[in-house]
Amino acid sequence: MTKHFFFIALLGTVISLASACQTQDSDKSKNNTTAAPEVAKNEPPATVALPYPQTPDEAIARLKEGNARFINDQSAHPNRDDNRKIIQAQKQTPFASIMGCSDSRVPAEIVFDQGLGDLFIVRTAGQAPAIASFGSLEFSVAVLGVKVIVVMGHEKCGAVAGAIGTDKLPGHIEDLVNIIRPGVKTFIGKPEKLEEASKANVLAEVEALKRLTPILSEYVKEGKIKIIPAYYHLETGQVEFL
Ligand SMILES: [Zn+2]
Repeated sequence: MTKHFFFIALLGTVISLASACQTQDSDKSKNNTTAAPEVAKNEPPATVALPYPQTPDEAIARLKEGNARFINDQSAHPNRDDNRKIIQAQKQTPFASIMGCSDSRVPAEIVFDQGLGDLFIVRTAGQAPAIASFGSLEFSVAVLGVKVIVVMGHEKCGAVAGAIGTDKLPGHIEDLVNIIRPGVKTFIGKPEKLEEASKANVLAEVEALKRLTPILSEYVKEGKIKIIPAYYHLETGQVEFL
């Protein structure tokens, strides 16, 4: 008898709880109908996928188009959606390598308006080359199949300023500028010539890469890749191809 009583009491409690939950739910739905209209959900941006360039000239054209969008504040942010992440997780497919400066104002993916897996980047201050840079660029050409290498200097480059300066710099910074110095030796002691020195540095780096054996020199000779110089303007965002 007592057992029976407890069972009924327990059943009553369960029913009360269930009923309370129902009331809450119906209140919720009531609130939903009377609440202010829902704010539009953040829709993902429209997917932009650009075709893979088949030749060096197509690759250069795609970089120029991307930079034009960036200059005009019309970046399309291509190849950055979830689908692109999944595809690139299987295999990267960059079409261009950028040998650029480490300067935080010159990020290649942003200034060329490209996405995940589009650009293979080697960055050192003053885009000073080293064995590691050479191996990286050779890998991008021989294994990944990039169509173009852009060597990109920029306005107000601190590394080039250091290289044409006459002060001895601390630590490994001196070693770094010593790599750049041969290409800018006519400008040493002439800080007012920073822009000319930066462009001369880029041109010297391009020539050195074109001669670099055994891989890059062969690919250039066979017309499979182009290695081109560029100079970035900080205020306008323009990449000037030299
Ligand atoms: Zn720089």
